[in-house]
Amino acid sequence: MVPEKKTLIKKGKKQKKATESRSKYDNVDWQAQTDKVVRYCGRRGFSVKFQKCKHQCSTVCFVEQEIVVHNGSTPERIFYCLLHELGHVLIHENYQMYSQNTGFVSSNFSLQSMTQKISEVEEEYDAWRLGYKLAKKMRLKVDRMAFEKLKASYLSTYFEWAIDRKIDTKIKNAVSGALKKAASKKEK
Ligand SMILES: [Zn+2]
Repeated sequence: MVPEKKTLIKKGKKQKKATESRSKYDNVDWQAQTDKVVRYCGRRGFSVKFQKCKHQCSTVCFVEQEIVVHNGSTPERIFYCLLHELGHVLIHENYQMYSQNTGFVSSNFSLQSMTQKISEVEEEYDAWRLGYKLAKKMRLKVDRMAFEKLKASYLSTYFEWAIDRKIDTKIKNAVSGALKKAASKKEK
């Protein structure tokens, strides 16, 4: 009886905590936050357009200096997607240094190669990270849980795209073995 009761209390507390932490974001004016970031983009020479995008993919064009954000979702998600695209802008403002730091040698690989694609996934990660960092710097509200979820859903599609080819089975087996081992250790 006692242990059961304990778990129940624990669960209740946990659920309460989750709702409380989310309600912190109930009154956030996402549109106002988006407007602030749009103005920031303007100061960096980029215009921002909101429209229905193919495959729900927001994009940034460096030739036309324009960010296009998919607007077929919630104001909160639209705000996060804009932050992500702005992250790409920040990366490309100093691309030479970025390439040096990440060891990105794109010109040596074909566009379709897995190596090239994985490098692009790396930039995707960094764009999310820089977008988040900038929001914090601008003192804008970001629900970290919601942000990470959105980031994961977009990144997962990139993973799939990047490995749409044969995988080195030797490495695959070695790594998945190591990951399983690490996971079982964590469970203990
Ligand atoms: Zn991206």
